Amino acid sequence: MTTQKHHRLLVIYTGGTIGMIENPATHALQPFDFSHLIDNVPKVRKLGYDIDNIQFDPPIDSANMNPQHWSDIALAIERHYADYDGFVVLHGTDTMAFTASALSFMLKNLRKPVIITGSQLPIGEVRTDGEENLITALQVAAARNAEGAPRVQEVAILFNDSLLRGNRSTKMSANNFDAFKSYNYPELARIGLDISFREEYLYRAQPGQPLIVRRQMDTSVMYLELYPGITCSTLDHQLHTPGIRGIVLKTFGAGNAPTEPWFINPIREAVERGIVVLNVTQCAAGGVNSTLYETGNALTAAGVVSGYDITREAAITKLMFLFGQGLDVQAVKEQLQVSLCGEVTVSRR
Ligand code: ASP
Repeated sequence: MTTQKHHRLLVIYTGGTIGMIENPATHALQPFDFSHLIDNVPKVRKLGYDIDNIQFDPPIDSANMNPQHWSDIALAIERHYADYDGFVVLHGTDTMAFTASALSFMLKNLRKPVIITGSQLPIGEVRTDGEENLITALQVAAARNAEGAPRVQEVAILFNDSLLRGNRSTKMSANNFDAFKSYNYPELARIGLDISFREEYLYRAQPGQPLIVRRQMDTSVMYLELYPGITCSTLDHQLHTPGIRGIVLKTFGAGNAPTEPWFINPIREAVERGIVVLNVTQCAAGGVNSTLYETGNALTAAGVVSGYDITREAAITKLMFLFGQGLDVQAVKEQLQVSLCGEVTVSRR
């Protein structure tokens, strides 16, 4: 790994546990400012990088994150794109995978690293995981290959001992330091004694294209999660949510759902009303194979689009993004069938 010194990095601090301190009155953790955070990691200076920072005012718990915040982060990267070699976004873990997915869609032709990290324990705690995550994220953002180009040229999550593609990541533990996994795409790097990048899995945008930042998101989308016992009226109510344009249908196993008319007919009617329904599995690993069972076939016949192996986080943010670009229903469906930036493996089976 080549990590020359004096690389210029911009840290965008949004909040999250990493920078939190305990409120003495309530004992609840609440976000605190960046100077507190960086004062707790004097080792950062040993890296020898030129690090600037900007922070959300005030920093937030990521449960409060919304598309306007994603847009603010993307705008900060756009404004400072030429000035820095890489970007590190400090973020709460709760919605980190949504932000990573949203940013991956917003930042077209990205050729520099955008590394998102945070921690399970505040940086001021003795056993914090924040110190290591922050330092490694900075090192990953500064890493260059033999030609001097950034090793990572995409939005990625650095957590614990792995670097993951942002739009393939999911938070899978509320307690463990190993909080994120990418079940359907290999790690981009393993963090051990060394940072071992796995070149063959790193995303590369088309060369020679300038960064294009598209920050518009349309939030007229929702999840509809299936469970045995869901009633006709619950289903109907959700499918008639006022103003809804896109639904991520969280199905069983390889994309299966009830085949009975009380279920399939309202779904078909929703599609006929122009709602885009995207089939995404509830399972953490694997994806939709709508030809495997009759229960998946019925959804396809009703006009439901396969989400293949996309994560639920990437699915909902991709729908927001596509509608946000002003695409019509047909164009949105077409874009769901292609990988925009490595978020999905489209299998024609
Ligand atoms: N609630 C926190 C947040 O997402 C949790 C964390 O950062 O780990 O901001």
